[in-house]
Amino acid sequence: MPDAAAHPIRLAIVGIGKIARDQHVPAIDKDPRFALVATADPHGSLPNVPSYPDLGAMRAALPDLDAVAICTPPAYRAAIAAEAIEAGLAVLLEKPTAATLAEAEAIVAQAAAAGTTLMTTWHSREAAAVAEARAWVAGRRVDRVAITWKEDIRRWHPGQEWILAENGFGVFDPGINALSILTAILPDPVTVETAHVQIPEGRAAPIAATLAMVSGGTAISADFDFLQTGPQSWDMRIDTDRGTLVLSDGGASIAIDGEAPRKADNIEYPAIYARFAALIAAGTSEVDLAPLRLVEDALRVATRETVAAFAF
Ligand code: NAP
Repeated sequence: MPDAAAHPIRLAIVGIGKIARDQHVPAIDKDPRFALVATADPHGSLPNVPSYPDLGAMRAALPDLDAVAICTPPAYRAAIAAEAIEAGLAVLLEKPTAATLAEAEAIVAQAAAAGTTLMTTWHSREAAAVAEARAWVAGRRVDRVAITWKEDIRRWHPGQEWILAENGFGVFDPGINALSILTAILPDPVTVETAHVQIPEGRAAPIAATLAMVSGGTAISADFDFLQTGPQSWDMRIDTDRGTLVLSDGGASIAIDGEAPRKADNIEYPAIYARFAALIAAGTSEVDLAPLRLVEDALRVATRETVAAFAF
């Protein structure tokens, strides 16, 4: 067995913003299979970690890099991923993979042709109760799913103007987390039937959305809101022929048939990095674009309503 601590995977983060600092850096620091050797970001940097303005400058300075985690806003992902794969690097992509399905598919095809490791991550799928929910749903007839994903954009995304711009995903930025759990739990593919989105005047991306979806005959509703003050909701209720399961706290809590919710620690990002290390060791990839496809389908069929202008 190679000694992971003696020969860790030399990893860099591209895009050192909120999620990189809050989750990626702590997870990487605790995992002896990785060494965080650099960051690339036009402005941001970490203390005591070499920083470069972009991937090109970083690669020129560090030719022995093994892997990159791309944590920029989605609009910039495709070009960065293409450059990384071209350079033979293993690539971890934050959700939502890329700005569009076509971009994501091009990244997947390029990595497959090059034989490099690619991981399209969906961190909410790693939430503590998701695996139990998937196992509970298996073998039951799902009659109805209701998703309520309502959070305060000003609290969780302060000043992130990109999120309401073209290719920023708007309320689908958190909403796609719910869709990633949904598509991981249900046995049949999910399709969008109808959608309605509210877009603030002067912005390009929705601040609220409702979706009607279907999966193997099961009706699924989703209610996404980015202006939720007070209690925040990241809930999914699943009614079946043999009971009801409620996932809450974004998949960290589970309650079955009205029992008190059970909540476990957040291990989403350590789990992601453990799998990324395993994929690199095996020379394989893990790719799933289903959540991104649902968002694109929803935006394609959606009726649009212009609502009051929004300022952070
Ligand atoms: P953020 O705080 O705005 O950070 C993004 C960082 O990427 C910024 O430092 C930005 O620099 C930098 N950047 C922009 N263009 C770049 C480029 N071409 N090359 C290198 N760096 C570049 O956003 P975030 O909240 O971390 O979100 C980033 C991604 O992670 C999004 O796709 C989001 O969906 C996902 N995510 C976020 C959360 C969360 O809770 N925030 C959770 C899970 C996943 P400038 O600011 O100078 O433009």
